[in-house]
Amino acid sequence: MNKITDKNSYLDSIKNRNLKIYLMGELIKEPLDHPIIRPSVEAMAETYELAVREPELASATSPYTGEKINRFLHIAESNEDLFLQNKMQRKLGQLTGTCFQRCVGMDAFNALHSVTFEIDEKHNTEYHKNFINFLTEMHKYNLVIGGAMTDVKGDRSKLPHEQEDEDVYLRIVKRTEDGVYVKGAKAHQTGCINSHWMVVMPTLRLSDKDTDYAIVGAIPVDAEGITYIYGRQSCDTRSMEPGEYDVGNKYFAGQEAMVIFDNVFIPNEYIFMNGEYEFASMLVERFTTYHRRSYVCKSGVGDVLIGAAATIAEYNGVEEASHIKDKLVEMNKLNETIYATGIASSLQGSSTKSGNFINDDLLANVCKQHVTKETYEIGRIAQDLAGGLVGSMPSGIDFNEGTMSEDLKKYLKGKKDINSEDRVKILRLIENMTLGRNAVAYLTESLHGAGSPQAQRVQIRRRVDIEEKKDFAKKLSGIIEREK
Ligand code: SF4
Ligand code: FE
Repeated sequence: MNKITDKNSYLDSIKNRNLKIYLMGELIKEPLDHPIIRPSVEAMAETYELAVREPELASATSPYTGEKINRFLHIAESNEDLFLQNKMQRKLGQLTGTCFQRCVGMDAFNALHSVTFEIDEKHNTEYHKNFINFLTEMHKYNLVIGGAMTDVKGDRSKLPHEQEDEDVYLRIVKRTEDGVYVKGAKAHQTGCINSHWMVVMPTLRLSDKDTDYAIVGAIPVDAEGITYIYGRQSCDTRSMEPGEYDVGNKYFAGQEAMVIFDNVFIPNEYIFMNGEYEFASMLVERFTTYHRRSYVCKSGVGDVLIGAAATIAEYNGVEEASHIKDKLVEMNKLNETIYATGIASSLQGSSTKSGNFINDDLLANVCKQHVTKETYEIGRIAQDLAGGLVGSMPSGIDFNEGTMSEDLKKYLKGKKDINSEDRVKILRLIENMTLGRNAVAYLTESLHGAGSPQAQRVQIRRRVDIEEKKDFAKKLSGIIEREK
């Protein structure tokens, strides 16, 4: 294999693989050729494209190979590195209007750097060395890594070893001298089919009875025993309709799949945790700390939706109305709140024991909490500005080719000099982002990705020192004495 340097070499690298993928009952031979899957491949490819166009933003130098690599593979060595990750994510959100799928691997890598180091420190193991060797290999070829964390979970009130079906959390089913075999399933895995490797990780705090579930390891996505079942997105079959008139976003979409592991082998050299159950919560916490501020990606996607809302206001001839201007201000305020809390978290990072940098946990959780709400409010205002047509437009075939085409173009016209086709296109984009395919990326993923809303509230409560705040109040009110 040659090093991937751009979009085309990336596309070549994932062609002709023997992945077992099911979509609507069909075994997919070549995902790149499938009209529903292809837009997600294009979104991932954009991460390579940006590194060519803006190397300062989207690439970095590998400390292991000394060569240029994609920033998504880079271990953060400073707060500036963490901030640049966010800048790149916002940019890619603006360019694709969807989930470009590559941050999970980046955040998993950064978490594993410090966690493997700390496991070794306690247990005299060699996971950090294994991990750095693996990372070096990834850097050498500039590959895409997916992070596979979310188990299917079964009964949420029970720990893995208490479940009736013991496979609802990924677990080790066999140990040999050379490695381990794992079984289980990971749900809604972002970009897995567009990756080269994935790293499996536990999804929650484990107990001493869960040692078989305490497994972290790297697996090539085409390993024997893996099956992918492609996740459907609202309106995804529009990509299969003639003319693709109604897709909204002409180029890009996200990707999630269920991954089933049936006795998949992980050799010793690709294992980064094996039974050290007490480190599972540290790994989950560090991963989510990185990942929750990675959700500034949604401020980039929000930029697109704000642009679409402003455009439809212009096409409808109402852009000068004061309440429209005010709604656009509100959308921007909400969107910048997401970005501001994310970059504040990055800029207040600190060094770990292994020497890489981790962003601030409290602010990362505040960022993600905003993402779970503000995107929906921005989406609501976008639909407000779009008007009811966003939910009732005739099909693209009727509009462009059908018997009534000329009538529809006449009656769907807005402002003079703006043609009806453009008005319909921008409405379709708003539909795509708030009701259609990319509403999965902009809304549902904003709600549940990197942990559902309550998970952030729990973490915010843990991180805030309420006693200290009470102390401030008590001093100023004279309940307790101020020190001089
Ligand atoms: Fe990256 Fe955002 Fe997609 Fe997560 S949702 S992988 S942070 S683009
Ligand atoms: Fe995600």
